[in-house]
Amino acid sequence: MKKTWSAAGDKAYILGIKLLVLILFLLLMAGCKDTGKDTESAGINIFNENENILLNFKAEKRISTEEITRDKFSVAVVILENGEIIKIPVDFYIENSAVIAGGQSIEKVEGIYLTDNYRSITDAYYHMKEFLDKGQKIMTVLLDGFSYNQFKRACEENKLTFLNKYFKYPALSVYTPVTNAGFAAIITGQTPDVNGVHDRSKRQTDVNTIFKYALDNNKSCILLEGDIKILNTEVEPELHTDINKNNEIDDEIYERALKAAKEGYDLIFIHFHGIDDRGHSYGPYSSETMEYIQTIDKYLKNLSQEWKGAIILVPDHGMHEKSEGGEHGTCCQSDMIVPYFVKEP
Ligand SMILES: [Zn+2]
Repeated sequence: MKKTWSAAGDKAYILGIKLLVLILFLLLMAGCKDTGKDTESAGINIFNENENILLNFKAEKRISTEEITRDKFSVAVVILENGEIIKIPVDFYIENSAVIAGGQSIEKVEGIYLTDNYRSITDAYYHMKEFLDKGQKIMTVLLDGFSYNQFKRACEENKLTFLNKYFKYPALSVYTPVTNAGFAAIITGQTPDVNGVHDRSKRQTDVNTIFKYALDNNKSCILLEGDIKILNTEVEPELHTDINKNNEIDDEIYERALKAAKEGYDLIFIHFHGIDDRGHSYGPYSSETMEYIQTIDKYLKNLSQEWKGAIILVPDHGMHEKSEGGEHGTCCQSDMIVPYFVKEP
Protein backbone atom coordinates (compact mmCIF):
# COMPACT_ATOMS: atom_id res chain seq x y z
CA MET A 1 0.00 0.00 0.00
CA LYS A 2 2.67 2.34 1.12
CA LYS A 3 4.65 1.75 -2.07
CA THR A 4 1.62 2.46 -4.29
CA TRP A 5 0.99 5.73 -2.50
CA SER A 6 4.59 6.72 -2.92
CA ALA A 7 4.53 5.82 -6.64
CA ALA A 8 1.33 7.84 -7.11
CA GLY A 9 2.96 10.73 -5.22
CA ASP A 10 6.02 10.51 -7.44
CA LYS A 11 3.84 10.54 -10.55
CA ALA A 12 1.96 13.59 -9.33
CA TYR A 13 5.26 15.24 -8.46
CA ILE A 14 6.72 14.56 -11.93
CA LEU A 15 3.50 15.75 -13.59
CA GLY A 16 3.74 18.94 -11.51
CA ILE A 17 7.32 19.52 -12.62
CA LYS A 18 6.33 18.92 -16.26
CA LEU A 19 3.48 21.41 -15.95
CA LEU A 20 5.78 23.97 -14.35
CA VAL A 21 8.33 23.58 -17.16
CA LEU A 22 5.52 23.95 -19.73
CA ILE A 23 4.20 27.10 -18.02
CA LEU A 24 7.70 28.61 -17.84
CA PHE A 25 8.23 27.77 -21.49
CA LEU A 26 4.92 29.40 -22.50
CA LEU A 27 5.75 32.49 -20.44
CA LEU A 28 9.12 32.71 -22.13
CA MET A 29 7.55 32.36 -25.56
CA ALA A 30 4.97 35.08 -24.75
CA GLY A 31 7.80 37.40 -23.74
CA CYS A 32 9.58 36.77 -27.02
CA LYS A 33 6.56 37.59 -29.13
CA ASP A 34 7.34 40.07 -31.87
CA THR A 35 11.10 40.15 -31.44
CA GLY A 36 12.29 36.66 -30.70
CA LYS A 37 15.38 38.32 -29.28
CA ASP A 38 14.59 38.64 -25.60
CA THR A 39 16.34 35.33 -25.11
CA GLU A 40 20.04 35.14 -25.78
CA SER A 41 20.88 34.46 -29.39
CA ALA A 42 23.19 35.61 -32.11
CA GLY A 43 20.69 35.31 -34.96
CA ILE A 44 19.84 38.05 -37.43
CA ASN A 45 16.49 39.83 -37.61
CA ILE A 46 15.42 40.70 -41.15
CA PHE A 47 12.60 43.19 -41.59
CA ASN A 48 11.05 45.75 -43.88
CA GLU A 49 9.17 48.89 -42.85
CA ASN A 50 5.96 46.97 -42.17
CA GLU A 51 6.94 43.63 -40.66
CA ASN A 52 9.58 41.21 -39.50
CA ILE A 53 10.48 38.77 -42.27
CA LEU A 54 12.75 36.49 -40.23
CA LEU A 55 13.66 36.61 -36.55
CA ASN A 56 16.80 35.22 -34.94
CA PHE A 57 17.85 33.80 -38.24
CA LYS A 58 20.99 31.70 -38.70
CA ALA A 59 21.62 30.01 -42.02
CA GLU A 60 23.11 26.53 -41.69
CA LYS A 61 23.93 26.58 -45.38
CA ARG A 62 24.33 29.61 -47.63
CA ILE A 63 20.98 31.24 -48.30
CA SER A 64 20.25 33.93 -50.89
CA THR A 65 18.00 36.99 -50.87
CA GLU A 66 15.37 35.29 -53.08
CA GLU A 67 15.14 32.45 -50.61
CA ILE A 68 14.62 34.92 -47.76
CA THR A 69 11.85 37.02 -49.29
CA ARG A 70 9.98 37.49 -52.55
CA ASP A 71 9.15 41.08 -51.58
CA LYS A 72 10.63 43.74 -53.83
CA PHE A 73 13.20 46.12 -52.37
CA SER A 74 15.95 48.25 -53.84
CA VAL A 75 18.04 48.98 -50.75
CA ALA A 76 19.44 46.67 -48.10
CA VAL A 77 21.26 47.90 -45.02
CA VAL A 78 22.86 45.84 -42.30
CA ILE A 79 22.71 47.05 -38.73
CA LEU A 80 25.73 46.00 -36.70
CA GLU A 81 26.08 45.31 -33.00
CA ASN A 82 28.09 48.55 -32.61
CA GLY A 83 25.31 50.60 -34.21
CA GLU A 84 27.01 50.99 -37.57
CA ILE A 85 24.79 50.93 -40.66
CA ILE A 86 26.21 49.59 -43.92
CA LYS A 87 24.43 49.71 -47.26
CA ILE A 88 24.98 46.43 -49.10
CA PRO A 89 24.14 45.16 -52.59
CA VAL A 90 20.63 43.66 -52.68
CA ASP A 91 21.92 40.28 -53.88
CA PHE A 92 23.53 39.31 -50.57
CA TYR A 93 23.82 35.91 -48.90
CA ILE A 94 23.64 34.79 -45.33
CA GLU A 95 25.88 32.01 -44.13
CA ASN A 96 25.79 31.01 -40.45
CA SER A 97 25.62 34.38 -38.72
CA ALA A 98 27.54 36.34 -41.39
CA VAL A 99 26.17 38.44 -44.23
CA ILE A 100 28.11 38.05 -47.46
CA ALA A 101 27.75 41.00 -49.80
CA GLY A 102 29.92 42.38 -52.59
CA GLY A 103 32.60 39.78 -51.85
CA GLN A 104 32.82 40.81 -48.17
CA SER A 105 31.81 38.87 -45.11
CA ILE A 106 30.13 41.02 -42.47
CA GLU A 107 29.99 39.71 -38.90
CA LYS A 108 28.23 40.91 -35.75
CA VAL A 109 25.04 41.69 -37.65
CA GLU A 110 21.97 42.42 -35.52
CA GLY A 111 19.56 43.12 -38.33
CA ILE A 112 18.97 43.69 -42.02
CA TYR A 113 16.50 46.34 -43.18
CA LEU A 114 15.05 45.94 -46.66
CA THR A 115 13.40 49.00 -48.19
CA ASP A 116 12.75 51.06 -51.29
CA ASN A 117 13.39 54.32 -49.50
CA TYR A 118 16.16 54.26 -46.92
CA ARG A 119 15.69 57.00 -44.36
CA SER A 120 17.06 57.36 -40.85
CA ILE A 121 16.22 59.34 -37.72
CA THR A 122 19.67 60.93 -38.24
CA ASP A 123 17.97 62.90 -41.08
CA ALA A 124 16.64 65.21 -38.36
CA TYR A 125 20.09 66.72 -37.77
CA TYR A 126 20.55 67.60 -41.45
CA HIS A 127 17.01 68.94 -41.79
CA MET A 128 17.49 71.16 -38.72
CA LYS A 129 20.80 72.38 -40.14
CA GLU A 130 19.21 73.07 -43.53
CA PHE A 131 16.45 75.21 -42.02
CA LEU A 132 18.92 77.11 -39.83
CA ASP A 133 21.20 77.70 -42.85
CA LYS A 134 18.24 79.16 -44.76
CA GLY A 135 17.59 81.51 -41.85
CA GLN A 136 14.36 79.73 -40.96
CA LYS A 137 13.24 78.91 -37.45
CA ILE A 138 12.86 75.27 -36.54
CA MET A 139 10.94 73.41 -33.83
CA THR A 140 11.88 69.74 -33.39
CA VAL A 141 9.78 67.46 -31.24
CA LEU A 142 11.18 64.13 -30.09
CA LEU A 143 8.25 61.74 -29.64
CA ASP A 144 9.70 59.13 -27.29
CA GLY A 145 8.79 55.53 -28.10
CA PHE A 146 6.37 56.23 -30.96
CA SER A 147 6.54 53.37 -33.48
CA TYR A 148 5.53 53.36 -37.14
CA ASN A 149 3.08 50.57 -36.27
CA GLN A 150 1.35 52.77 -33.67
CA PHE A 151 1.17 55.64 -36.14
CA LYS A 152 -0.42 53.40 -38.80
CA ARG A 153 -2.89 52.03 -36.23
CA ALA A 154 -3.88 55.55 -35.16
CA CYS A 155 -4.33 56.57 -38.82
CA GLU A 156 -6.51 53.51 -39.54
CA GLU A 157 -8.68 54.42 -36.57
CA ASN A 158 -8.91 57.99 -37.88
CA LYS A 159 -7.57 59.29 -34.61
CA LEU A 160 -5.15 61.91 -35.86
CA THR A 161 -5.70 65.35 -37.34
CA PHE A 162 -2.18 66.84 -37.32
CA LEU A 163 0.34 63.99 -37.55
CA ASN A 164 -1.26 62.31 -40.59
CA LYS A 165 -1.03 65.58 -42.52
CA TYR A 166 2.75 65.96 -42.17
CA PHE A 167 3.92 62.36 -42.29
CA LYS A 168 6.89 62.06 -44.65
CA TYR A 169 8.29 58.51 -44.46
CA PRO A 170 9.14 55.58 -42.22
CA ALA A 171 12.67 56.00 -40.81
CA LEU A 172 15.14 53.61 -39.21
CA SER A 173 16.11 54.18 -35.58
CA VAL A 174 19.57 53.17 -34.39
CA TYR A 175 20.85 50.11 -32.56
CA THR A 176 20.26 49.88 -29.67
CA PRO A 177 16.83 51.48 -30.00
CA VAL A 178 16.72 53.22 -26.61
CA THR A 179 16.38 56.91 -25.76
CA ASN A 180 20.03 57.86 -25.17
CA ALA A 181 21.12 56.33 -28.49
CA GLY A 182 18.13 57.60 -30.49
CA PHE A 183 18.33 61.11 -29.02
CA ALA A 184 22.10 61.25 -29.71
CA ALA A 185 21.57 60.10 -33.32
CA ILE A 186 18.91 62.79 -33.88
CA ILE A 187 21.02 65.66 -32.54
CA THR A 188 24.37 64.56 -34.04
CA GLY A 189 23.26 63.11 -37.38
CA GLN A 190 25.54 60.13 -36.69
CA THR A 191 24.98 56.50 -35.77
CA PRO A 192 26.23 55.14 -32.39
CA ASP A 193 29.50 53.78 -33.81
CA VAL A 194 30.44 57.40 -34.58
CA ASN A 195 28.71 59.45 -31.87
CA GLY A 196 29.62 56.99 -29.10
CA VAL A 197 26.17 56.71 -27.50
CA HIS A 198 25.11 53.06 -27.80
CA ASP A 199 22.79 52.65 -24.84
CA ARG A 200 21.45 54.11 -21.62
CA SER A 201 24.85 54.04 -19.91
CA LYS A 202 26.29 56.89 -21.97
CA ARG A 203 25.47 60.60 -21.63
CA GLN A 204 28.27 62.21 -23.53
CA THR A 205 28.39 62.34 -27.33
CA ASP A 206 31.80 61.97 -29.00
CA VAL A 207 30.83 64.52 -31.67
CA ASN A 208 29.16 67.92 -31.58
CA THR A 209 25.39 68.25 -31.66
CA ILE A 210 23.05 70.54 -33.57
CA PHE A 211 23.02 72.82 -30.51
CA LYS A 212 26.72 73.53 -30.92
CA TYR A 213 26.15 74.20 -34.62
CA ALA A 214 23.31 76.58 -33.83
CA LEU A 215 25.28 78.47 -31.13
CA ASP A 216 28.35 78.76 -33.39
CA ASN A 217 26.09 80.38 -35.97
CA ASN A 218 24.60 82.84 -33.48
CA LYS A 219 21.25 81.08 -33.37
CA SER A 220 19.32 81.08 -30.11
CA CYS A 221 18.09 77.70 -28.91
CA ILE A 222 16.25 76.04 -26.08
CA LEU A 223 15.97 72.37 -25.11
CA LEU A 224 12.84 71.42 -23.14
CA GLU A 225 13.28 68.15 -21.28
CA GLY A 226 11.44 66.12 -18.63
CA ASP A 227 12.69 65.78 -15.07
CA ILE A 228 15.97 64.05 -15.96
CA LYS A 229 18.84 65.18 -18.14
CA ILE A 230 19.40 62.47 -20.76
CA LEU A 231 22.55 63.69 -22.52
CA ASN A 232 25.13 66.38 -21.92
CA THR A 233 24.41 68.95 -24.60
CA GLU A 234 26.02 72.29 -25.47
CA VAL A 235 22.74 73.93 -24.48
CA GLU A 236 21.76 73.03 -20.93
CA PRO A 237 18.30 71.40 -20.99
CA GLU A 238 15.48 73.17 -19.18
CA LEU A 239 14.09 70.47 -16.90
CA HIS A 240 10.43 70.21 -15.85
CA THR A 241 8.57 68.66 -12.96
CA ASP A 242 5.01 67.45 -12.50
CA ILE A 243 3.69 70.69 -10.98
CA ASN A 244 -0.01 69.78 -11.19
CA LYS A 245 0.65 66.23 -9.90
CA ASN A 246 -1.17 64.41 -12.69
CA ASN A 247 1.66 61.87 -13.09
CA GLU A 248 2.65 63.45 -16.38
CA ILE A 249 5.30 66.02 -17.27
CA ASP A 250 4.47 66.42 -20.97
CA ASP A 251 1.68 68.87 -20.09
CA GLU A 252 4.14 71.12 -18.22
CA ILE A 253 6.61 70.87 -21.13
CA TYR A 254 3.80 71.66 -23.57
CA GLU A 255 2.80 74.81 -21.62
CA ARG A 256 6.44 75.94 -21.58
CA ALA A 257 6.77 75.21 -25.33
CA LEU A 258 3.70 77.33 -26.10
CA LYS A 259 5.43 80.26 -24.36
CA ALA A 260 8.82 79.51 -25.94
CA ALA A 261 7.19 79.54 -29.40
CA LYS A 262 6.55 83.26 -28.90
CA GLU A 263 10.00 84.07 -27.49
CA GLY A 264 11.89 84.34 -30.77
CA TYR A 265 14.10 81.24 -30.58
CA ASP A 266 15.70 79.97 -33.79
CA LEU A 267 15.68 76.37 -32.57
CA ILE A 268 13.27 74.86 -30.06
CA PHE A 269 13.84 71.21 -29.21
CA ILE A 270 11.10 69.47 -27.22
CA HIS A 271 11.17 65.98 -25.72
CA PHE A 272 7.75 64.41 -24.99
CA HIS A 273 7.90 61.19 -22.96
CA GLY A 274 4.26 60.20 -22.45
CA ILE A 275 3.79 57.79 -25.37
CA ASP A 276 6.81 55.73 -24.25
CA ASP A 277 5.66 55.73 -20.59
CA ARG A 278 2.20 54.41 -21.50
CA GLY A 279 3.62 51.98 -24.05
CA HIS A 280 5.76 50.39 -21.31
CA SER A 281 2.97 50.28 -18.73
CA TYR A 282 -0.07 49.35 -20.81
CA GLY A 283 1.30 48.15 -24.14
CA PRO A 284 1.89 50.05 -27.39
CA TYR A 285 -1.65 49.49 -28.74
CA SER A 286 -3.59 49.79 -25.47
CA SER A 287 -6.42 52.32 -25.29
CA GLU A 288 -4.36 54.35 -22.78
CA THR A 289 -1.46 54.68 -25.21
CA MET A 290 -3.56 55.18 -28.36
CA GLU A 291 -5.63 57.89 -26.65
CA TYR A 292 -2.49 59.60 -25.48
CA ILE A 293 -1.17 59.71 -29.06
CA GLN A 294 -4.27 61.81 -29.79
CA THR A 295 -3.36 64.13 -26.89
CA ILE A 296 0.11 64.61 -28.39
CA ASP A 297 -1.49 65.18 -31.81
CA LYS A 298 -3.54 68.01 -30.25
CA TYR A 299 -0.49 69.49 -28.49
CA LEU A 300 1.36 69.53 -31.82
CA LYS A 301 -1.56 71.12 -33.65
CA ASN A 302 -1.78 73.88 -31.03
CA LEU A 303 1.99 74.42 -31.04
CA SER A 304 1.98 74.72 -34.84
CA GLN A 305 -0.56 77.53 -34.57
CA GLU A 306 1.82 79.51 -32.34
CA TRP A 307 4.99 78.64 -34.25
CA LYS A 308 5.60 80.14 -37.67
CA GLY A 309 8.80 78.23 -38.47
CA ALA A 310 9.33 74.66 -39.68
CA ILE A 311 8.48 71.65 -37.52
CA ILE A 312 10.19 68.26 -37.44
CA LEU A 313 8.66 65.39 -35.50
CA VAL A 314 10.92 62.43 -34.88
CA PRO A 315 10.72 59.47 -32.49
CA ASP A 316 13.90 58.09 -30.94
CA HIS A 317 12.75 54.45 -31.23
CA GLY A 318 9.60 52.34 -31.44
CA MET A 319 8.23 49.65 -29.14
CA HIS A 320 7.08 46.03 -29.22
CA GLU A 321 4.33 44.30 -27.32
CA LYS A 322 5.10 42.08 -24.36
CA SER A 323 2.74 39.68 -22.59
CA GLU A 324 2.24 42.64 -20.28
CA GLY A 325 3.03 46.15 -21.43
CA GLY A 326 5.72 47.01 -23.94
CA GLU A 327 9.48 47.17 -24.38
CA HIS A 328 12.14 48.26 -26.84
CA GLY A 329 15.84 47.72 -27.37
CA THR A 330 15.93 44.91 -29.91
CA CYS A 331 16.73 45.15 -33.60
CA CYS A 332 13.24 44.28 -34.86
CA GLN A 333 10.70 46.12 -37.04
CA SER A 334 8.52 47.51 -34.25
CA ASP A 335 11.48 48.89 -32.26
CA MET A 336 13.51 50.13 -35.24
CA ILE A 337 10.95 51.66 -37.61
CA VAL A 338 9.42 55.01 -36.67
CA PRO A 339 7.38 57.65 -38.50
CA TYR A 340 9.12 60.89 -39.53
CA PHE A 341 7.28 64.15 -40.08
CA VAL A 342 8.13 67.56 -41.49
CA LYS A 343 5.96 70.66 -41.63
CA GLU A 344 7.50 73.30 -43.88
CA PRO A 345 7.34 76.88 -42.61
ZN1 LIG B 1 11.21 53.41 -23.16
